[in-house]
Amino acid sequence: MSARDWVEKDYYRELGVAKDASADDVKKAYRKIARENHPDAKPGDTKAEARFKAAGEAYGVLSDPEKRQQYDEARTMFSGGRFGGFGGGRGAGAGAGAGGTGFSGGFDVGDLFGGGGARAGQPGAGGLGDLLGGLFGGGAGTTTGPTPGMGGTRPREQRGADVETDVRIDFAEAVGGTTLPLRLASPTRCTNCGGNGAKPGTSPRTCLTCGGAGVVSRSQGAFAFSEPCRDCSGTGSIVDEPCPECGGDGVSTRSRTLTVRIPPGVDDGQRIRLAGQGQPGSRGGPPGDLFVVVHVNSDDLFGRSERNADDLTLTVPVTFPELVDGTTITVPTMDGKVSLKVPAGSSSGRTLRVRGRGVHRKDGRTGDLLVTVELAVPSRLSSAARQALDAYVEATADHDPRADLTRRAEAAARRETAS
Ligand SMILES: [Zn+2]
Ligand SMILES: [Zn+2]
Repeated sequence: MSARDWVEKDYYRELGVAKDASADDVKKAYRKIARENHPDAKPGDTKAEARFKAAGEAYGVLSDPEKRQQYDEARTMFSGGRFGGFGGGRGAGAGAGAGGTGFSGGFDVGDLFGGGGARAGQPGAGGLGDLLGGLFGGGAGTTTGPTPGMGGTRPREQRGADVETDVRIDFAEAVGGTTLPLRLASPTRCTNCGGNGAKPGTSPRTCLTCGGAGVVSRSQGAFAFSEPCRDCSGTGSIVDEPCPECGGDGVSTRSRTLTVRIPPGVDDGQRIRLAGQGQPGSRGGPPGDLFVVVHVNSDDLFGRSERNADDLTLTVPVTFPELVDGTTITVPTMDGKVSLKVPAGSSSGRTLRVRGRGVHRKDGRTGDLLVTVELAVPSRLSSAARQALDAYVEATADHDPRADLTRRAEAAARRETAS
């Protein structure tokens, strides 16, 4: 290839790098183009194939210091300043340090509902079946940094932000589980341009200022700073013809409806992770997760046990004779009524367990219904009841229910005095 051939071709422009770009930046720029235009990535796209080949040719020259020097000299000799516009690069900063959009916090109780292990950072598996992928999944934000090596690396890709939203459900829905539509007006990857921000049919070009790295380094005295490239706002590429749908930022706000499956036994305030349903990633990064915070309305009758959330609680009023003699009462449960035997001699406040009438977990674990009997004290008595009660008082006059308590209190007081 002659020097004149070289002059016809602007290899720097081909790779989108500045004329004084470092070997490292040349390599990076080439890899980006090669990856994006590789025939495997875009089969049948002749434009991409041509770009892929041209970039390969440019890289073949610019990656070889000796050839690059010859090429530069040839251009200077023959071009007469035609290519003068490429000197603007300030040397791309190496290592794009894009900050992670990490979701912090989250407890690691991924097995709460059996099947759901934490699957942090897993890109959008999507689909109804996966919506409950991990409860409290600890969804750690991951930013995939530049990785060495050609195949399949995607420098500077950034995971989308996690999104949080709230839903309110009834107590019965929390106990039995439910499916509900969730309407979200949230940014999603623009479908018109596929998220690259360029008008369909065009593609973004590599930013010349930063060589596609998205950051530039600037030295001030003895220090070198890395800062986001101003020309491309840190994206590394420039869109000449913006996508009309999203205005060039690759993200459009659309309302979408997701179906959220709330598993049986969800607690008030619990967060459910919907993997991959958060904000779209930038530059090909995976989307963030959506966290649905579930608020549960309280119920008139039933509660959740504080000791075991799978157990439901219910308080049932009973009469004094029922506690004394024992009885069988009919109590409501979340699914139909059951008969419950109250043993004779039960105290008010005694809790009886109805097996299997609590939360039914998907993994087969089942909670119970805890029925607390509570003495209902009448505020008014009929005269017949009054007479009967007076007779009862008289008949039990020799029984002091506090006799034991009094004896123990006095014993304690004596020990106190002795010591
Ligand atoms: Zn678009
Ligand atoms: Zn730039």
